[in-house]
Amino acid sequence: MAWYLDVIRRAEIVDTRTGVKGANVLMSNGYEIWKRMQNILDEKFYGTNHKTMIFPLLIPEKFLMMEKEHFEGFVPEVALVTHAGEKKLEENYALRPTSETIMYHLYSQWIRSYTDLPLKVNQWCNIIRIDTKDTRPLLRDREFHWTEAHTCHETAEEAEEQVKESMWIYSTFFDECCLPYLVLKRPKHDTFPGAEYSVAYDCPLPDGKSLQIGTTHNLAQGFSKVFKIKFQKADGSHDFAYQTCYGLSTRVIAAVIGVHGDDRGLILPPYLAPTQIAIIPIIFKGKEEKVKKTSKEIYEKIKSSGIRVILDDGPKTSGWKFNEYELRGVPLRIEVGPRDVEKGSVIIVRRDTKEKIEVKNEDIIEEIQKLFEAITTELKQRAKTLLEKSVSTIETLEEIEEKFNTKKPGFIRTNWCGNKKCAEYIKENFRANILGTKYGEVEQVFGDCPVCGEKAKHVVYLSRTY
Ligand code: ZN
Repeated sequence: MAWYLDVIRRAEIVDTRTGVKGANVLMSNGYEIWKRMQNILDEKFYGTNHKTMIFPLLIPEKFLMMEKEHFEGFVPEVALVTHAGEKKLEENYALRPTSETIMYHLYSQWIRSYTDLPLKVNQWCNIIRIDTKDTRPLLRDREFHWTEAHTCHETAEEAEEQVKESMWIYSTFFDECCLPYLVLKRPKHDTFPGAEYSVAYDCPLPDGKSLQIGTTHNLAQGFSKVFKIKFQKADGSHDFAYQTCYGLSTRVIAAVIGVHGDDRGLILPPYLAPTQIAIIPIIFKGKEEKVKKTSKEIYEKIKSSGIRVILDDGPKTSGWKFNEYELRGVPLRIEVGPRDVEKGSVIIVRRDTKEKIEVKNEDIIEEIQKLFEAITTELKQRAKTLLEKSVSTIETLEEIEEKFNTKKPGFIRTNWCGNKKCAEYIKENFRANILGTKYGEVEQVFGDCPVCGEKAKHVVYLSRTY
């Protein structure tokens, strides 16, 4: 954690010195990564006919009370607006802790007929939840940025298809971010309030904990009955809409940093990196002009090909610059020295493997593209290896305890009877959660429930979580 906090501050991802606990500045490097994540997702959202909208930040408190009454929702974490200056408002408003209630209030007015379905809306916005637990930048904030999509369908089957579509959107997105993850169906006791079931994407981190980086919920008709999202079917009868929702937040940035960083700082996939290449002229006395001129030419050539490149010919030492761009996770560094200038070539250094490659100036764009590909492949491979190494299959309670006593326990794959009491035992004794069963895959149980000794019903995954 000390490493993480240090890196996100020095690499200018987040600044926490705002005077508001858990509400931070997303600095330009953090924002640029988030923007590229938005680009990847938007392409998929538009490709699957989602509409983008922005709903209000203020939500009438009474909407949330409807949710609370029915589902025991978010209410304890909700920030309320009760006054304008010193004057008490006639009605209290919540700062959105999530947008189900306001969106579904509108959906009930928009949807009249089966011809209005499906309705698929995505919103990019900020969320306020006054979580009383310790805050950690990007991991657990009181204000954070996210995408939340909310859909309505004619039948249960179509809602189920939508769950799968959301999983395709998120899974391919996580793949493009070079992240490892398990897709797990949460146990009943950990299902989103009001949902029929919840699926989460759990990312292993190198410290042996896991991070939930996204969720999909099949809401069935729970919310549509409360918010009266009713429509006429083709045969003239009426029904309530079947709904799904799914969301992910700036936590994904924390996952990329945590999964791929090293003791020198960030390692970013080239697509996400705010700066993809840093060119550093290596200046020797008497050769300054030639080196600077060539560096500038190379910079212009790379820039004109659409790559995000900077030329750092400032007064700081080359060593300082190397460290700085490594800290920031710039995927490639180009060194231009006097000898390289004479040879008509440059040295390209990979951030991920630290490998140095000599490249002829005329081949530079082609080589950069190849190296971006190679880095992406390498990071995907590292993610795959981390996931494989993170999962241990364990049968007995003693061995589970032993594993949780190690420094990096990761995911434990074991059997479970399905009883909430056994999940509570694991929570109390190991500070770990039963995250659920693999979605879309029935794994054969391989023993009894390690906690109570009863016959097991499911193969589940446990881990300590952020
Ligand atoms: Zn049990």
